[in-house]
Amino acid sequence: MKILIRGGQVLPMDAAGTVLTEGYVLIEDGTIAAVGPLSEAPATSEVNHVEEAHGCLVVPGLINSHQHHWYHLLKGLSVGLYLEDWVREVLHPASEALEPDDILISMRLAAADMLATGTTTFFNHSVVETDLDSVVALAEVSRATGIRQIFGKEIRATPTRTSPQVHWQEVEELLRRFPIRAEELFSVGLAIETGEHWIRQGTMTTELAGRVAELSRRFAVPVSDHITGGTLSRSVTDFRLRTGLGQVEWGAKHGLLHERALLAHAVWMGDDEILLAAEAGASVVTCPSSSAFTAGGIPPIRGWLAAGLNVAIGSDGPMVNDSVDILGLLRECFLLQNVKYLKPAAVPMEQLWCMATRNAARALGLAGKVGELTPGASADVAVFDLRSPQFGGALNPPVNTILSGGNHEARVVIVRGQYVKDASGLLTVNVAEVVEEARQSALNLARRAGLPVRC
Ligand SMILES: [Zn+2]
Repeated sequence: MKILIRGGQVLPMDAAGTVLTEGYVLIEDGTIAAVGPLSEAPATSEVNHVEEAHGCLVVPGLINSHQHHWYHLLKGLSVGLYLEDWVREVLHPASEALEPDDILISMRLAAADMLATGTTTFFNHSVVETDLDSVVALAEVSRATGIRQIFGKEIRATPTRTSPQVHWQEVEELLRRFPIRAEELFSVGLAIETGEHWIRQGTMTTELAGRVAELSRRFAVPVSDHITGGTLSRSVTDFRLRTGLGQVEWGAKHGLLHERALLAHAVWMGDDEILLAAEAGASVVTCPSSSAFTAGGIPPIRGWLAAGLNVAIGSDGPMVNDSVDILGLLRECFLLQNVKYLKPAAVPMEQLWCMATRNAARALGLAGKVGELTPGASADVAVFDLRSPQFGGALNPPVNTILSGGNHEARVVIVRGQYVKDASGLLTVNVAEVVEEARQSALNLARRAGLPVRC
């Protein structure tokens, strides 16, 4: 099966930073076969399907490197809370009231939300205890909806759902069954919590840290961790006072700082920690909109990049942010960095695109496989149509697409060479049905959790 995307500006997001003002992308059997200027495109008669992209921007499918999918059900309920208060007042009651059906219904909703805005890959950091069957069920939803997911399996020193022995058996079984491979839509990585709250509770211990480091090495999987994502004067300072270390220094001491480490948030890393993380080849997954939402600070992304850190972007769970629209998040990130550094384009637009594509692929262990349109990469593609008044004259498509207006819906989304969205809408999800089901599930969940709803 050959698909030819013809015309439009193409950002292959290759290492050279190529921009093709009028280009083409040739897809063959789920893989990118060729990319180049339109004048060198193969004849339309040589392919099975032609996608005309004149007036569009063609980019690799976007990557959201930090998500918690079931938060999609509870958007709108967390305004006005610092992170620590939100954890106590919203997250804990909601987690306790969550039922297996909510997990699956919210997965369909999350997939529809992300795919519509061009996200084709996401890292799903699990914050509730899951069993083998529920993870397998999530894999089926990922495959059915066509979104690529790396599920960050939660690792606990003191699992409450089952015995530690069964917990470890399930973790290893999942890692064996769902390796990180671009050919698969579902893979399993690891998710840990080294924050102040979790260490105090005994959920994370130094012994567990060593075991996680060994697993990550043996299975070559990323390990996601919330790093200094809280309020500076509360959990961030508490951690330093108790341990005498920053969270990254603590991780380094216990074997958790390596090239597969995903340091989510990381707003308050010290200068030494930034260098330590860069030297270790770790990745930071910045969630600037989430940090802004909970008044957690503005991450120093410009400084991180100058230190040589690999920086990817994540939405965080959309009940503390309330959006997973990656281009919207890049817009907010761009503006916040200007405010922080009092410098226009403090983080250049090219770097923003990298954070949602090739940097993210490297962070997730999929470098060269996703996040770029180069021969041999998986054919994950998003096409954004700039033929609308909000884009003005569309004279600078990579800038226009992020900054001009608020509608970041992709016209076409392709994952592994399969159409998941075209001009008629999403093809893999019955949106009306999913939204209706999710509204009911959300209402019931909020009521069981005792959360205030206003509908
Ligand atoms: Zn998070």
